[in-house]
Amino acid sequence: MKKRKSEYCVLCGINPPFGKKGDHIPPLGIYSLAERRAAKYPFHTVPACESCNSEGKVSDEVLKLFVGIATGESRQNQDELIDAIGATLLGNAKESSNFFRNTILIDDGRGEIDSQRIGIYFDEELCKKSLARICRAMYWCHTGIVLHREKAIDIFFHSDMNVEMKKLMPDLLLIAKSLTVNGGSFVSSLAVGNGESMMEMRFFDKLTVYALIDQ
Ligand SMILES: [Zn+2]
Repeated sequence: MKKRKSEYCVLCGINPPFGKKGDHIPPLGIYSLAERRAAKYPFHTVPACESCNSEGKVSDEVLKLFVGIATGESRQNQDELIDAIGATLLGNAKESSNFFRNTILIDDGRGEIDSQRIGIYFDEELCKKSLARICRAMYWCHTGIVLHREKAIDIFFHSDMNVEMKKLMPDLLLIAKSLTVNGGSFVSSLAVGNGESMMEMRFFDKLTVYALIDQ
């Protein structure tokens, strides 16, 4: 994708961008070290101000765990990915206690130990905050329009959708335009509507998250 410039930080729409490098969107943290080393492309960045750049550090850590666990089985270097998740949990006491305190076994009804699944709660607020940053940045990449931080972005997962939305989704995505970054590991599709737009964000061809954007 061609690199574009912006007069304003594309994450807040208020401050001028800081430095030449910009902010990595999606955050570099969701890639394992092996993936970063093997990458044959420059990781995607957007113009961002200093305060937005540092604001993402905590929420991006939660996103890293969320994406890592949700997509792990479809990625290469799984061992390294598990090590990276372990390193985050070891190095971040707050996330670690949140993770382990809330990890529960879900009995799927068959009653066998093997068939139990592990359910993990993430700090949903922080996770969605990080996803909203990605959405704002990609919205600018799609449209060239910087969203002011007061414009609401509503992040939701497939399980959050009501029947109406699930019916609407295939039509919306048909008219959506897609952008692929970081060697195809992240794809955003934007359908622009009247007053509200919808974005689909897909990580590692595995995890899909949606966003409603107030324009
Ligand atoms: Zn900013």
